[in-house]
Amino acid sequence: MDKNQTLRVLFIAAEADPFVKVGGLADVAGSLPLALRTLHQTPSLLHPQESGEGFIDIRLAIPYHGAIREDAYDLRPVTKFSVPNIQGSIPAEAFSTNSGDLPVYLIAGDPISPDAPVYSADSSADGHKYTFFALAALELARAIGWSPHILHANDWHTSAAVYSLARKRPTDLFYRNTASLLSLHNLPYLGVDSGPALKSYMLPPAHDSRLPKWAQHMALPLGLLAADHIVAVSPGYAKEILTPEFGSGLHEFLRTRVDSLSGILNGIDVKRWDPETDPHLEANYSIHNLAPRAVNKNALQRELGFEPDPNKPLLAMITRMDYQKGVDLTLEALRQLFLAADSGQGLQAVLLGTGNPELEESARRLEINFPDRVHTATRYDPALSRRIYAGVDALLIPSRYEPCGLAQMIAMRYGCVPIARATGGLIDTIRDYGATEESTGFLFHEAEPEALEQAVMRAMTVFAHPERWQALQLRGMREDFSWERSARVYLELYHSLVKRRSGDENQKTT
Ligand code: ADP
Repeated sequence: MDKNQTLRVLFIAAEADPFVKVGGLADVAGSLPLALRTLHQTPSLLHPQESGEGFIDIRLAIPYHGAIREDAYDLRPVTKFSVPNIQGSIPAEAFSTNSGDLPVYLIAGDPISPDAPVYSADSSADGHKYTFFALAALELARAIGWSPHILHANDWHTSAAVYSLARKRPTDLFYRNTASLLSLHNLPYLGVDSGPALKSYMLPPAHDSRLPKWAQHMALPLGLLAADHIVAVSPGYAKEILTPEFGSGLHEFLRTRVDSLSGILNGIDVKRWDPETDPHLEANYSIHNLAPRAVNKNALQRELGFEPDPNKPLLAMITRMDYQKGVDLTLEALRQLFLAADSGQGLQAVLLGTGNPELEESARRLEINFPDRVHTATRYDPALSRRIYAGVDALLIPSRYEPCGLAQMIAMRYGCVPIARATGGLIDTIRDYGATEESTGFLFHEAEPEALEQAVMRAMTVFAHPERWQALQLRGMREDFSWERSARVYLELYHSLVKRRSGDENQKTT
């Protein structure tokens, strides 16, 4: 195809905002396809021949999870079809709706139980659910006669589609020209118990010596083996996954794929995350008028039961409660800071997060021990998260690993300074104070409470000089984290994959 033709992309993911959101994957799946679609003028789907130059017809497919409230969307039945399984075909049905200009398919079928959470503690049940969904997405495209140039899958949940595509491509005319792209948002989630499900959908283990034996029947490794291209969600993470520390046992295999691996930074939806228009804030503010931000800090301090004092540093953590995120490092660093002789210069902290019960309990205990200094909210609360981004001085992000991370980008957009561990996407998005005049935050290296504590103290010395702190806030607010930038890189990549794919096919036929 030439660049003036319509490029068809099937984007598949386990979750997508605003339909269903558990983590950052939903932000990406909700925003990136939309950003790609709006890069060029959108023609009517009914009249694709009116396509503008280089139009991209990207469509999103997600499972019809029970958590998706059907009355919230205008859902239309599209088609019924089936997914071949060793025990006979499994019926599936697709419904369509829209997210802005983006067509979205919700796929239903018995393996996607309305009673099951998006991610279950039963990894084998999830193996069946997501293998069914991934393969159903491929069958759906066939059922509606819409052959994609690109299959863009995300993480282990949809990797079976990439593996299946590679197996069927040589003999299946419908998919002969489809190239695949697999985005890696979180490598350690390999789909460990997906083997039996893959087998039941007639996808055998790959006997490819590049893959370690233990990985030859797992969804993500198979997807990584079969994908035409792999994208890690930041350039930093693309390098880290080639090392034993971050490679989840696959670093040597991934090195064999290095020519087809790149890192593209995620973005954030700058319309949804905008302190100038955010309706949840006590006072809206912007780069041109930062002063009202103080009103948000004051309101937040009162809401949390803290002494409302603009000079007391107010810190936060907004996160899944998981060891990956270094929640334990934060709790210990805060404890040490509160016990320090200068009592951490009066600092206050709010912790918002749910997840690991042990970490939740430790966070609640910290509040019990320091009730005037710590507020812990162990729930998922998007409105509170916005008041926190707009009200606190700094956000703690001591992640042990961080493929990209969105929290630091949202924080900077809201004038909240990130204090983060130098890993993955955090390195790509934050410039350390002192290292450059263009600094936007504070980075530290060791995954130890003391290292975080020192970074907080370093930040506090700058906080003590309001004009320096404000300059730091403004530099963060000026950063361009919009999806448009990343979407253009993805679009280039899509075109190069299509070109390579048709080159491969031409070679075979000549
Ligand atoms: P991950 O995807 O690894 O969880 P990210 O930083 O990429 O981490 O994305 C996390 C997203 O979830 C951010 O938008 C953050 O604000 C939001 N978030 C995390 N925990 C909560 C919570 N308890 N309440 C509201 N929003 C949350």
